[in-house]
Amino acid sequence: MMPALKGYAGQILRVDLTRGKILKRPLPPDLARGYIGGSGMGARILYDEVPPEVKPLSPKNHLIFATGPVTGTIYPPSGRYCVVTRAPLTGIWGEAHSGGYWGPELKYAGYDLIVIYGRAPKPIYLAIDDDEVELRDAKHLWGKNIAETTDAIEKEFGEPKPCVACIGQAGENLVRFACIVNERSRVAGRTGVGAVMGSKRLKAVAVRGSKGVEVADFDRVCELAEESHERYTTGEWGEVCQDSLYRYGTLGLVDWENEIGRLPTKGHQTGVFEHAREIGPERFVREFVVHRRSCMNCSIQCKKVSRAREGPHVGITEGPEYETIVALGSNCLVRDFPAVMRANQLCNLYGMDTISCGGAVSFAFECYDRGVLSKEKAGMPLRWGDGNAEVKLMKLIAFRKGIGNVLAEGMREAARRIGKGSERWAIQVKGLEVSGQDGRPHQSAGLTHAISVIGAAHLRALSSLDELDYRKTLTKRFGKERAKAMGDRLSTKYKGLLVKDVEDLYAVVDSLITCKYGTMWPPMFYFNDYAELLPALTGIEEFGKVKGLRIAAERIVNLKRAYNARLGLDRKDDTLPNRFLKDPMPDGPAKGKVVDLKPMLDEYYRERGWDVRTGLQKRKTLERFGLTDVAQDLTKHRRIAKG
Ligand code: SF4
Repeated sequence: MMPALKGYAGQILRVDLTRGKILKRPLPPDLARGYIGGSGMGARILYDEVPPEVKPLSPKNHLIFATGPVTGTIYPPSGRYCVVTRAPLTGIWGEAHSGGYWGPELKYAGYDLIVIYGRAPKPIYLAIDDDEVELRDAKHLWGKNIAETTDAIEKEFGEPKPCVACIGQAGENLVRFACIVNERSRVAGRTGVGAVMGSKRLKAVAVRGSKGVEVADFDRVCELAEESHERYTTGEWGEVCQDSLYRYGTLGLVDWENEIGRLPTKGHQTGVFEHAREIGPERFVREFVVHRRSCMNCSIQCKKVSRAREGPHVGITEGPEYETIVALGSNCLVRDFPAVMRANQLCNLYGMDTISCGGAVSFAFECYDRGVLSKEKAGMPLRWGDGNAEVKLMKLIAFRKGIGNVLAEGMREAARRIGKGSERWAIQVKGLEVSGQDGRPHQSAGLTHAISVIGAAHLRALSSLDELDYRKTLTKRFGKERAKAMGDRLSTKYKGLLVKDVEDLYAVVDSLITCKYGTMWPPMFYFNDYAELLPALTGIEEFGKVKGLRIAAERIVNLKRAYNARLGLDRKDDTLPNRFLKDPMPDGPAKGKVVDLKPMLDEYYRERGWDVRTGLQKRKTLERFGLTDVAQDLTKHRRIAKG
């Protein structure tokens, strides 16, 4: 079949697991024109097809794998895909992104998206070999970890090997923060997408593709790809990419974040870890890194493979990345680097999000420390900093044994079950464990966590522009006066505008789909770059103007917000734990500071054109972005602002 549009494969695969039916449908051109690809297209499908009464683990929930117009092309990096669903950890909009080669392989097989619904009567896996698509028995794979599952499916396919995205035991056991892992260690991590896959008895999606992707203007795409590669490898930003991300991976951030007092430590009680060096980048590279890896066609290559050669945690793993070393290291006071590596490896094998898993461990340590969780109930002492206890908890959580069964529900629900005031130290927003930032020393990070549509995540709207006072870039984007106030990470001034702008930019990045390194940090790419790229890839002229692209971005942001609004969320949910709002930072450069959320939130809503009092969307705002049908739907559900 000829693709309807350039830059896309041109087909959606629809899989009904209950009936065992597989349908191939052409990609509607309007879906591409309105929502670009990736999480944008996923948002439109999920909003239309999964009404609010459908629970996350119901067979009626959809699990959508999505690629975008950049996926699989020569434009770097092009190895990314995303998964969207109603999330079992939070009960709201769920979204997780991964890299590697799986996304490109899906496009080469001829599909932009896979929409999966229903529940198989027995464990199965989806096998895609170009035009041949079938559901295969996975009884022999059920109970196997990520590596074993991948090995077995690769063997069944033979050469050339397929790309395998699968769940481990955590997904089968419906751990609320189970993830989907492709190529053994690339992870669609957040919000529990792996539990949705487990609830559908879908063990894996294996893909082998041999077709290419046809773009609208091949010569122009090649030019832009070369220019992009130059930016990643030469000049001011190229040096940042090569000196930091290539050499240390994202773990290179540990020293800097500790210096500015933003390294989450001891369950986010502070932002300064006195033993940061022991989990820092120099030690990582000196003692443990053995190999570098990359997603497809990436000029940065931030992935690291590390090995512990001696001690009780001998082994090899991919990572840890910054978020993992924080979640399982400083935030649990664990400075036993090999123990963190082992915990990281187990998360990758069982298929669990390291951020939420680390959150569960730090929560358990704090409950034990404060006397609300006894040794008998926990099954062992759970002392801050005990790497061996952390490693033991990984298995208990994945297999839902003992205290692990409570922690597997996620921090919010675990606190509800443990009670005794423990919700005070359940550091989560909308049910999602807080990622490796702290709003007290970086106020806009606090706003980012509060407004994020999936809960407290960094990849929805985190800005490095004020964190590092990139004055030149701020001035170019927002003018001199605003840039001056914005550049101060402790100030709240203009942070609503800044976060809104970053969130819109990431909506484009997550729809293209490309990697956020280069956009988030360092800030090399902006709307104008993607306005040049998208028409060359797709031939869609509307994307060629910054204004048109910004409108598409706001349409996507508003649609995801509407999905949550329909479920009952509003301003009351855009908040932070009291640890950030009421407990002054005890150490470091931000000593004495709390997050001053209200003024930032007010400004953010004003910039969005939403009602400041309720945080609900206004009809005229939705109409401005072509979402008249959504405005009508929200009116029906009484979830729209008056006026
Ligand atoms: S920078 Fe890292 S995460 Fe991003 S595409 Fe490259 S290798 Fe993958």
